[in-house]
Amino acid sequence: MSGVPNTPITIVNVGYRSTNFWVVSAGASRLLVDLGYPGTMGQMRAALARMDIPLREIRFGLATHYHYDHAGLAQEFKQSGVPLLVLESQVSAIPSMLSQVKPSDRFVEITLHDNVTISFAESRAALARIGLAGEILPTPGHSDDSVSLLLDDGSAFTGDLTPPALTGMATAETVTASWRLLREHGATRVYPGHGPARPMP
Ligand SMILES: [Zn+2]
Repeated sequence: MSGVPNTPITIVNVGYRSTNFWVVSAGASRLLVDLGYPGTMGQMRAALARMDIPLREIRFGLATHYHYDHAGLAQEFKQSGVPLLVLESQVSAIPSMLSQVKPSDRFVEITLHDNVTISFAESRAALARIGLAGEILPTPGHSDDSVSLLLDDGSAFTGDLTPPALTGMATAETVTASWRLLREHGATRVYPGHGPARPMP
């Protein structure tokens, strides 16, 4: 019904320093989920080259949340021609990146006026335009601005959404609700921000 052509989806990890950066591709139309550490654009470019992923084929960058180890290169990607896809619940979290870094981290501040900012309801159409069948869901818990990319094949890119077994009392309800939402929307496999892909808990 979405009109997305039936190009097989491939998933590649270009992560380094213990964080996964997932490249989700429909042929040569690609989405990068999580955007590197501050000051590491050279390392990121090398990781992409190693996996034969041309930067120009990345149609959007998406940060699962605005922590330095997930959105550190967002602005450099924009400067390299990769637009930043921002969800409505994330806008107010972007300025907080500045408080997470030291000058020596060489973080490039993320500007707010030139992003592709969408609502969750608009996410399916935005993804369809780059050949991906899926949606982006709000999955708070680890942070208020955490989102997950959920493909229609059940692949869920969850960032740092806390595994249910590790949930502290403070956020237990929020985390549980986020996992429930993913399950209700068909998630079967988890591609987390750290550690290997695994079945849905
Ligand atoms: Zn985090």
